[in-house]
Amino acid sequence: MESPFHISADRLAFGIDNAICLDVISRFKEKPIIPATSFKGILRHNIETVLNSKEKFGCISPKPEEMCNECIICKNFGSPKNKALLMFEDISIENGEINKRIGIAIERRRKITKEKQLFTYQTGFGKESIAKIKGIFENENDALTACALLYIGIKVGFSLGHGKSRGLGWIKLKTFEAKIDNINKNLEQIKEKIKEIFK
Ligand SMILES: [Zn+2]
Repeated sequence: MESPFHISADRLAFGIDNAICLDVISRFKEKPIIPATSFKGILRHNIETVLNSKEKFGCISPKPEEMCNECIICKNFGSPKNKALLMFEDISIENGEINKRIGIAIERRRKITKEKQLFTYQTGFGKESIAKIKGIFENENDALTACALLYIGIKVGFSLGHGKSRGLGWIKLKTFEAKIDNINKNLEQIKEKIKEIFK
């Protein structure tokens, strides 16, 4: 992580307006979490953007009526008609830090006066964390396609959660490791597959 992140959690926290998800280990030990759904959503969005820009698909989530159900993104990430082949887990950040910040919200509902409101929000940070994504596939080719998609999605570079313009949530990929049936796949094989997808 290059900066702290904020992904709003649907939970109440004392003294904080917008809390993040936490992994509660004990009363005194908590770790920030990147929820699986958020991570999956970002990757899917990145992959859609890249593939749609190459005019490969016209598939846009999350609106069900705009999802084709048939493309490799729908197959791997799921659609109203397909169960996803990929399974994401929450990313619990080892040695993660949890902090509180103050933000300013500008209320624009009133026509003349803009009202400024202070609010507090939580951020999570950790230098490094590991995201594990698993999948069950019919054959090696499908598994390799999934690896290729994930590599596209993560390599594009992205920010997590809210406050990108305030410098929040910037993340950089350090290493990408792919295993099929417990055998390591090298990056060249994955890059070959990416070329095939773009053909
Ligand atoms: Zn689709």
